Formats: sequence, C-alpha cells, structure tokens
Amino acid sequence: MQLAPGLYRFGDDIVADHLIVTDEGITLIDAGLPRLYSALRHELAAIGRPITDVRGIVLTHGDSDHIGFAERLRRELGIPVYVGAADADRAKGAKPPATPSDHKRLIPTLGFLGYALLKGGARVPKLKEVQTVSDGDVLDLPGHPEIIAMPGHSPGSIAIHVPSVHAVFVGDELTTRNVLTGVTGPQPAPFTDDQATSSESLNRLQDLAVDWIIPGHGAPWTGGAPALITAYRQAESAIRS
Ligand SMILES: [Zn+2]
Repeated sequence: MQLAPGLYRFGDDIVADHLIVTDEGITLIDAGLPRLYSALRHELAAIGRPITDVRGIVLTHGDSDHIGFAERLRRELGIPVYVGAADADRAKGAKPPATPSDHKRLIPTLGFLGYALLKGGARVPKLKEVQTVSDGDVLDLPGHPEIIAMPGHSPGSIAIHVPSVHAVFVGDELTTRNVLTGVTGPQPAPFTDDQATSSESLNRLQDLAVDWIIPGHGAPWTGGAPALITAYRQAESAIRS
C-alpha cells in the first residue's frame, strides 16, 4: 500500500513493515514476522520492482516480531541488515530480559501470541550477521536513513528518519495500537524493557519536521511530533494513575 510517493507499507495494523522506494533501489524498514515475506513479495510485484532492488534492511530493534524474514534475505540475496549496536546480540538470538508481567494481560498476550504463531513467530531465524549503527549515522542506502538512538523499549532501539519521504520509523518506542489491549492512539508499547528511558527517548522526536511517524504496531501518525508526544504523555499518566 502506498502511503506517499516513495513510501510503502505492507502487513497490517498489528504488525507492519515499510519500503523506501527510489530510483537507486529500495530500503526495507523492519522484517516483521517470517510469513510477512509473502506480503513483501506481493507489495514488490504490485509496484513492479524485483526483490534484488532491496539494498538493505534497517531494523528498529532486535525483537523477533521485527526480524522475521531478515536472515532469509541476508542469506539468500546477501542483503545487509542494520541494527542498533546494543541490539545486535538480541537480533542474533540473545533472550531479552523478562518484562513486568500482569496476570490481567495473560489472555490478550495469548491473543497476540496466537497471531504471531500464525505468521511464523514460533520459529524466527536469528541473524547470523548484522551491521551495527549508532546515533547520528547516515546510512548509504536508498533514502539515506538517519539514525536516532531511542533506548528504552530495548537498549539498541533506534528511530530511522528518512527525510526524502518525510517519515520517521519509531519501532516499538511507542505504539498507536496496543497489541495486547487493542486500544488505539499514541501510548507506551507493551513488552518495554525500561519505560522511564523509553519515555525520555520520545523527546528526541520533538523537533523533527515529518509528515509520518510510523510505529511497528498500529496506524501511522500524521498529526506531527508535538501532538503525538502530548497524546502519549496523557496515555502514560493514565496508565500510572
Ligand atoms: Zn514489536
């Protein structure tokens, strides 16, 4: 689905990935769950570009619902995979720390896990090799993605700012649709390692002049960074109280 010239989305509002499409090639942002691979092929066919046009995959973080088919593309086609340095081990299979659990969330958690299983989430091939990126890096990939460190959800979480399409991809540093509750609107994401740090990282979006703020789960936000941060803070304080 085309969001804007050069900016495409596939998957759904539970798990989505994105393509930056230029004359020089394509950058893939996140690699979903393994079975989103067929959605990628479908999207590329719809826009008439071969998969060999994909020059690189940039991961917002190393969680298994974002790396799904990345190793497959790396292994089969030699496409490099970029990840925040502090998430390299996680992308290669290190277990994330257990996040605070809440028994009231057990049933919705099982619901999301059921969805993930349908999309191949039980067997996510871990990355054998990654290129690590750091705050301030500008990658030599289509769209020239700029890396903004956004620790919190995981230590190596990054936002990926792509000025050519007026978009920033924020992974799970926030969500606009909680995968556990189905509640929509900007809010803290579940399964976050360190919520206080995640909340602080959000301030880094404040001055970005972008049309699109795109989380890994939930609809893209088009209301600008200041309004997004305000809505997030309201949701965050409602959770706390
Ligand atoms: Zn996720």
